[in-house]
Amino acid sequence: MDIKVLKTLLTERGEPAYRLAQAKRAFFVDLGASWDSLTNYSKPLREACQENIAWDVLKEVRTVISEKGDTVKTLFECRDGQMIEAVLMRHDDGRNTVCASSQVGCAMACAFCATGTMGLKRNLAIPEIVEQVIHFSRWLKPKGEYVTNLVMMGMGEPFHNYDNVIAALRQLNDKDGLNLGARHMSISTCGIVPGILKLADEPLQVNLAISIHAGTDEVRDKFMPVNKAYPLAKLMDAVHIYMEKTNRKVMFEYLLLDGINDRKSDANALARLLAHDHRLSHVNVIKYHPTEAFEPSPRENRMAFVEWLEERGISATHRVTFGEDIDAACGQLAVQEAEGLVKQGLEAIRAKRESKK
Ligand code: SF4
Repeated sequence: MDIKVLKTLLTERGEPAYRLAQAKRAFFVDLGASWDSLTNYSKPLREACQENIAWDVLKEVRTVISEKGDTVKTLFECRDGQMIEAVLMRHDDGRNTVCASSQVGCAMACAFCATGTMGLKRNLAIPEIVEQVIHFSRWLKPKGEYVTNLVMMGMGEPFHNYDNVIAALRQLNDKDGLNLGARHMSISTCGIVPGILKLADEPLQVNLAISIHAGTDEVRDKFMPVNKAYPLAKLMDAVHIYMEKTNRKVMFEYLLLDGINDRKSDANALARLLAHDHRLSHVNVIKYHPTEAFEPSPRENRMAFVEWLEERGISATHRVTFGEDIDAACGQLAVQEAEGLVKQGLEAIRAKRESKK
């Protein structure tokens, strides 16, 4: 539901302010399925809303559940026919985390990422971001559960759609709506420096995660084109400013790629990079799920990598991964309907790698 359009419609019709609150309650709290659930609206008002504003802007196309039942992935169709995906991760401790998309595709072309091979189609609008969370809230409701956390870590680079992402998180944070705590929401970036600096001054106190994946420019350049525009020194300067201003912890995501970034020298380089801000840094070492471009580092390397970091005073954990069997894990979010594009992209990566041999 586009709250901004609804607000305009209600104002133009001279409706009292509480009408907006009633709609928010029906949509975000009662998780109603259509305008018909707004029984406290008069029939003409409901009809006017129905005619002008879609209750849901996303259509569920397909939902798949992992064998363990801990991961749920939904493919959505937007009103212009574009497809996006979002994932629900159900943790043993009762947390229900939604991993939501911010764009259709992504322009950043990280070589390990399925979405990166699709290219960017467009930014998602505010209701398209919000409704990914609402969808899973509705899915959890009959089980007596609710969404507890949100990570903007699905398809797209959130800082390339900064305003809509922040506006969507504000709507989800609204105490008259879903009331999802700001501290329970995270934005994950591949390292867009202006976005990090902007977030440092953002009144909404959401968490920041950085897909770092390397401790030197030499290694990072191999698979993250963003590193050309924002090399590690620039990135870490921005992180330092963010930490200084917010005093909030930053999560560094590190996918371990076999023989590429999983050596002891890589852990040392990362530890050196984070040494200055180690008090507010935490590294999540993540198992890579093959998307044809790279091989995952074996488990013993991942465990050793965590130990190497901790020996150097960097707090690190080996992160539990979700949904490998339904292509919902890190680096795997790409709409299957766009498989042709994904294939083309992967072939281009392979050809590039072959030509460098
Ligand atoms: S990892 Fe994130 S930023 Fe990089 S291509 Fe994939 S979606 Fe885009």
